[in-house]
Amino acid sequence: MSKTVLITGAAGFLGSHLCDRFIAEEFHVIGMDNYITGDQDNIHHLFKHPNFEFIEHDVTNHIDIAQTIDYILHFASPASPIDYLKIPIQTLKVGSLGTHNLLGLAKAKNARILIASTSEVYGDPLVHPQSEEYYGNVSAIGPRGVYDEAKRFQEALTMAYHRFHGLETRIARIFNTYGPRMRLNDGRVIPAFMGQSLRGEDLTVFGDGSQTRSFCFVDDLIEGIYRLLFSDYTLPVNLGNPGEITISEFAQEILTLTNTNQKIKYKPLPKDDPLKRQPNISLAKKILNWAPKVNRSEGMKKTLEYFRTLPESKLFKVDHKDFSKHIKR
Ligand code: NAD
Ligand code: UDP
Repeated sequence: MSKTVLITGAAGFLGSHLCDRFIAEEFHVIGMDNYITGDQDNIHHLFKHPNFEFIEHDVTNHIDIAQTIDYILHFASPASPIDYLKIPIQTLKVGSLGTHNLLGLAKAKNARILIASTSEVYGDPLVHPQSEEYYGNVSAIGPRGVYDEAKRFQEALTMAYHRFHGLETRIARIFNTYGPRMRLNDGRVIPAFMGQSLRGEDLTVFGDGSQTRSFCFVDDLIEGIYRLLFSDYTLPVNLGNPGEITISEFAQEILTLTNTNQKIKYKPLPKDDPLKRQPNISLAKKILNWAPKVNRSEGMKKTLEYFRTLPESKLFKVDHKDFSKHIKR
């Protein structure tokens, strides 16, 4: 009998890759999503698979599933700063109420649950690179507070279920991850630069471009999540690629990769945009025997190939997703 895994955020970037991985490992996969920032095209290929089922549902509402569930991967949440600034209350709700529902479901089903946390719990870090012991430097009331505090609350609630109820929990602190199936217009820097490049527009670098990020290719991240789920480690674990680069150097790399000669246009740095970000992955190396394998040039080529296959309707649709049908007034 194959084991059953519930994956929330299944129609999103990471969730859809997780569905593929667990299907490939012969699990029965239940995908759940309300499509607020996701895209059905990411999982369309799975709809006829005998081991895949899909439930369209907002996880901030009570979740009712009759069948046995062995594992839960809670990945539902807007993840792009532009998305979560547009839907701040949904972002807070999915990290808090949504996580509460999924922890409750895990407890009722006696399932192991892994939650997708983020490097944003470190905020604009005063310690570099960031290791799991660092408590972070987050503004609760700044624009990013809706995401950062939801994720910090999510971690706190998960640890409380672990300590109080003895629930089997895992926490992945995910650093910037990229690859095929990111929404071209979600505002995150990689789809933003690639979309601009493919449309022949100037690349928009925010601030002076000296802020850094460290980008992890999706296949590496999925492997890390898989190993973490089946490890016996219950405290948070950083998963990311330590290869750090400034955003202006990165814009230059994209221009070289796409072989285009657009200019770089500088725009104001959004408030509370972290100036540095790089994971210390010693813990993941030690307990999961995991480290990323795909270097940035290889990962970016694969990502660009994917964006090049998108129909013009997606390439030129620069307006951000319409969230209005999900917002209850
Ligand atoms: P994404 O926006 O592509 O996917 C998120 C998915 O969650 C979407 O399909 C969306 O429709 C769904 N969703 C949102 N709210 C929901 C709700 N209330 N009910 C049901 N479904 C809902 O983002 P992603 O990059 O795939 O991120 C997935 C998870 O990983 C998020 O929890 C995010 O915080 C975390 N994460 C991602 C990164 C990254 O670099 N990609 C980094 C850190 C953390
Ligand atoms: N960024 C940029 N131009 C863009 C989009 C993003 O210069 O068009 C910058 C952004 O200010 C940040 C970095 O790229 O410093 C990464 O942004 P992203 O939205 O991908 O995620 P973050 O790491 O900030 O959560």
